[in-house]
Amino acid sequence: ATARDADSAIRQTDTDAALARLSAVQKHYLQDPFVKALVPRAHLQQARPPLINVGTYVRSEGIDELVDRWLDLAEQEGVKVQVVSLGAGSDTRFWRIETGSRKGRLSAYLEVDFAEITTKKAMAIKKSKELSKVLGQPEDIKLGSGGMALHSPIYHLIPADLRLPPSETLSSALATPGSPLLSPSLPTLLLFECVLVYMSPEASCSLIQWFTDYFSQGSGPLGGIVYEMFGLSDSFGRVMHENLKARGVSLPGVVPYPDVASLPQRFLQHSFSTAHALTLRDIRRTYISLEEAGRISKLEMLDEIEELELVLGHYAITWGVKLPDDGSSLKAHW
Ligand code: SAM
Repeated sequence: ATARDADSAIRQTDTDAALARLSAVQKHYLQDPFVKALVPRAHLQQARPPLINVGTYVRSEGIDELVDRWLDLAEQEGVKVQVVSLGAGSDTRFWRIETGSRKGRLSAYLEVDFAEITTKKAMAIKKSKELSKVLGQPEDIKLGSGGMALHSPIYHLIPADLRLPPSETLSSALATPGSPLLSPSLPTLLLFECVLVYMSPEASCSLIQWFTDYFSQGSGPLGGIVYEMFGLSDSFGRVMHENLKARGVSLPGVVPYPDVASLPQRFLQHSFSTAHALTLRDIRRTYISLEEAGRISKLEMLDEIEELELVLGHYAITWGVKLPDDGSSLKAHW
């Protein structure tokens, strides 16, 4: 396959993620009134198997919980926060935050993805009243870069290939003269939801290091969340890897992380103060309330619990925080 085909296979994973989310919403695992407007009409009726729905549910609840706690910490400190979502695809998190109980706590929310994806998303936002009204008045929502970017008072969508040196892509995008999109002095959360696996370890490192340097100029703590597949060295992991390769997707970013204990290195190697990782299997077993677990178990028949645990054991959420050197803000534990 050519590099072009390989990139288009990577971009296709966004439709897969959005369809998985839509399926989990339609089966009442999750609530998300916004995802429908971002999924191509032709795909609207495709439900996913129960195992995928449960996985999508656990992943979504786990990440939501961490993002909520970050928004709460900032509220305790009396400041607004910034979120940067890398490889955001058709994610609806911005809309869910801004219409939920933590609305008003964001000073900026920036999404980055390939130009093909951001162009599609910008058009979908423009076309959907439901999506655009959350961004502000129509006159405050502006397309940029020939339709590849979109800007509004809080929400920004910009195109970039994250494998390229950030100093060539993100620097100029963030440095709007007079008012940079992101302030280094506010608490900022980086989200990498299912994206670093598609990049080489070197490219991921440069990216995280670039943000670490950018925010070290200011006094705001930097948080990070990575969701990814890991541990392809056992027999089950190898089968998963082969399946993806057969679809033309390669996963160079999985290789350095053989087990869950290795995952916090994603952040610790960039001198983060703390980092932790949990597999979806452990989150499902330990962190979903009994009441929720009961509700979920009634939604669909799922008899392959062993298979579910095997799959969920190969996905993890890793999170870390880098406190500013003077230790001045966000002292609370995250
Ligand atoms: N974060 C979203 C979610 O979890 O629902 C989308 C995940 S999807 C599996 C992966 C996304 O990462 C796709 O939208 C893809 O286009 C994007 N992506 C992968 N490699 C990228 C790169 N080098 N530059 C920009 N975006 C990239």
